[in-house]
Amino acid sequence: MYYTTLNYYLNLFDSGKREFAFQAKSPEEYDAWKDALRARLKEITGLNRCVPCGGAHELVSTGEVEGFQAEYHTLETEPGVVMPFYLMRPEAAFGGKRPVLIIPHGHGGGKRAVLAHQGKFIREALEEGFIVACPDARGSGDRREFPEQGDAPEQERMNSHRELMQLGLNFGRTVIGGAVWDLMRLADWLLAREEASGFLACAGMSGGGQQTLWFAALDDRVNAAITSGYFYGVRDSLIELPQNCACNFVPHFFETADMGELGALIAPRPFFVESGENDPLAGRRRVQNVTEQLDVTRAAYRLFGAEGEIVHSVHGGGHEWRGDGMRAFLKKAMKGD
Ligand SMILES: [Zn+2]
Repeated sequence: MYYTTLNYYLNLFDSGKREFAFQAKSPEEYDAWKDALRARLKEITGLNRCVPCGGAHELVSTGEVEGFQAEYHTLETEPGVVMPFYLMRPEAAFGGKRPVLIIPHGHGGGKRAVLAHQGKFIREALEEGFIVACPDARGSGDRREFPEQGDAPEQERMNSHRELMQLGLNFGRTVIGGAVWDLMRLADWLLAREEASGFLACAGMSGGGQQTLWFAALDDRVNAAITSGYFYGVRDSLIELPQNCACNFVPHFFETADMGELGALIAPRPFFVESGENDPLAGRRRVQNVTEQLDVTRAAYRLFGAEGEIVHSVHGGGHEWRGDGMRAFLKKAMKGD
């Protein structure tokens, strides 16, 4: 016999209200809601506690990584906090200004894993003329803390999210707050390049989809967002599955909003959600736990007559990136039609 506490939290969620549950009935109401929710999210994630810095940058090396010609850069994002990232450029023949695509990684590795596992998508983006950046998030890849560091394959797949969450909580910070701050600073650097057109897209799988969702929700510079394997209602996916990684949890979030509201903050920008019918991280009701949240997001897009900017691509697999339709989505988003 175990006397567990999970049902207590489920009841707490069911009996409570999300403070910023989406209810806006006009673009004006939407704008006021968006400003207020963003301010609250910046507070509870600790994003507003991050410290600006000079943004020291270095091109460390250039070489072949997982079949790509990749530049290894570092960028200081807070004083003494350094983010490495791979940068890949399209063929010189394209010339002129280029759009930018950031691909944050998920769990199970850092930036190198993106090149290994999402190589087809990166190649498509390069063919479309994108400059592609793949950063290491805090606690992953070359940013792992002791004792997760090491070159053995199983070691490379590990991350330090638990350590960073525990440290951060005591300073009012979270893992996702730090990750979004770093993506914002990467966007600063990328968009300031002479070659950058100003169009910025972000796409990620799982934890990379989580970073993409929060980044696009909090930063209007993201012109198009693709999230795969991460758009689920929190009740089924995080409260019923609290064994998920510490980076998924933000103080007071279950009292504040749900995934549908994060999606609604992206309106009316092009937003692509990829789901696997058998993704266990969606919870026991699977895709229904995605469509319910997307319905909330759609209500926001409808206020702008922009429901067509949402794409929901459902495949028959599990927790996996397929990429079907993403190239066409990016092309359409760039043209703005
Ligand atoms: Zn994590």
